[in-house]
Amino acid sequence: MAADPQQLTVDMIACAGHGICAELLPEWIQLDDWGFPIIRPGALPPQLRAQAKWAVSNCPTLALKLRKAAREESRVARAASPAAPRAPAGLPGRSPR
Ligand code: SF4
Repeated sequence: MAADPQQLTVDMIACAGHGICAELLPEWIQLDDWGFPIIRPGALPPQLRAQAKWAVSNCPTLALKLRKAAREESRVARAASPAAPRAPAGLPGRSPR
């Protein structure tokens, strides 16, 4: 049985803008002009889960979290799962909590 879909979130109050997360998971996290993370919305593709856990464990302020994805985001991730992750179109803003 496949693991539940998960999504990355960031606590922007706790985030200090080190940018380590974007270095460790560039497929899913970009930095804005001030060095704060912009995380792709939706569930994380399964092939990026280990890399995401690594990014979470290396966040110096514990701002980056891996959580169970919301239902709609899970559906989108399953549909997109076979494809390689693409760069986000535009700046989607910060991920919802
Ligand atoms: S590693 Fe943590 S503190 Fe640094 S930018 Fe990413 S979320 Fe923010």
